[in-house]
Amino acid sequence: MIVIGAGPAGMIAAGVAHEKGLKVIIVEKMKKPCLKLGITGKGRCNLTNIENKKDFLEKFGTKGERFLKHSLYTFDQHNLISFFNSLNIDLITERGGRVFPKSGKALNIVGALKDWIKKKQIDIILNAQVTSLILETNSVVGIEYKNNKERIKLTSESVILATGGKSYPLTGSTGDGYLIAKNSGHNIEKIYPSLVPIETELDINIAGLNLRNIEASIILNNKCLYKEFGELLFMEYGVSGPVILTMSKHIVEMINNKQAIELSIDLKTALTHKKLDNRLLREFNKSPKMTIENILRKLLPFELIETCLKMTKITKDKTGGQITAKERKQIRLWLKDFRIKITGYRPIEEAIITSGGINLKEVNSKTMESKIINNLYFAGEILDIDAKTGGYNIQAAFSTGYLAGISAALKKQIKNI
Ligand SMILES: Cc1cc2nc3c(=O)[nH]c(=O)nc-3n(C[C@H](O)[C@H](O)[C@H](O)COP(=O)(O)OP(=O)(O)OC[C@H]3O[C@@H](n4cnc5c(N)ncnc54)[C@H](O)[C@@H]3O)c2cc1C
Repeated sequence: MIVIGAGPAGMIAAGVAHEKGLKVIIVEKMKKPCLKLGITGKGRCNLTNIENKKDFLEKFGTKGERFLKHSLYTFDQHNLISFFNSLNIDLITERGGRVFPKSGKALNIVGALKDWIKKKQIDIILNAQVTSLILETNSVVGIEYKNNKERIKLTSESVILATGGKSYPLTGSTGDGYLIAKNSGHNIEKIYPSLVPIETELDINIAGLNLRNIEASIILNNKCLYKEFGELLFMEYGVSGPVILTMSKHIVEMINNKQAIELSIDLKTALTHKKLDNRLLREFNKSPKMTIENILRKLLPFELIETCLKMTKITKDKTGGQITAKERKQIRLWLKDFRIKITGYRPIEEAIITSGGINLKEVNSKTMESKIINNLYFAGEILDIDAKTGGYNIQAAFSTGYLAGISAALKKQIKNI
């Protein structure tokens, strides 16, 4: 069996197929396996999430949920945890069921996976970019790859295509697999970035400012469509951080549909309008001679004061005693609803995940085998599945990879009976 791509999906597929008696070769384009896995979770690798399976699957949307069910039940979060424990990796569970290596190092996960493959003496051909599948009638019988300009053909009874998505191309995921699958007759659902930062129109540079405990809402025609509570980070071009990444799939869809959307940030989530008004009144009464600029320091991060005054059209040297009831209301409304126009999203290269991919209707979800080409299997991010952050995507890569490897091995065993 040939596995194309040495990411988490390809590595587990190769290892389990070997354990079931198949001779396996992994072909990897980069000079090292698992480059993307090594940078996941800001270098800490959020490996999986121990949420119950029903809630876990829901994160993939209706069609993803249906498709992933069998692979998750075949190799679930607890199987993945036991697998890494058996490789001497201790894991810890953090807030929201997120599982990380106890060492805090994604590279430990990569190292364990590489050692596991090495111990099995599975060959990995590195620096080898697969360009096409070799097909005979409706079956795959091999692959062709480029190695230092040389074109090499390998034959095999089965092939697992696990080339990942199209984001972070320096890790090797450049979308090659989509073309390889398309040329063999598969349909590719439109590719677009998911878990991606957003571009906004904000004429003050507050890049680097990180806001915690805020609520971000996506507004269309003054109606809130989605909202998330948590952390938001200002960038040179707009906004990122967990709340934005989580909502980004919807934002991208709306931008693609040419909908004029805005971001609203509630900077005072713990206070109702009434309580906030009382607080403002108290601050202004307490410091009638202090400038509004200085009073706002008690209520806002320094970097936002200029924006607040600019957007509420209040001059910075006005004092607490000079602020009118109307101006106090403007400040209150701004603190609860800091509006920013959304203008676009960052390119797919900067996305954490690629949405779209191999059409799920063309893949048997019980085996991961193609319904179009015999003995061709898919695993991981190349499939049209994606979820929000939280360890769901890596688990999906391991679960589908495991199922693909086991299925290819079982098919061969049945053939040999
Ligand atoms: C910055 C970042 C942080 C992330 N953090 C998390 C996280 O904490 N938790 C989480 O669940 N998910 C996270 N993800 C997503 C996660 O990394 C992916 O879902 C996962 O790596 C997908 O695994 P895969 O095996 O399908 O693909 P990949 O990991 O992309 O591996 C595909 C492999 O195929 C190889 N390849 C590509 N084309 C060819 C070719 N033509 N020939 C040969 N080989 C080829 C590539 O070089 C690569 O090694 C993160 C992603 C990014 C970019």
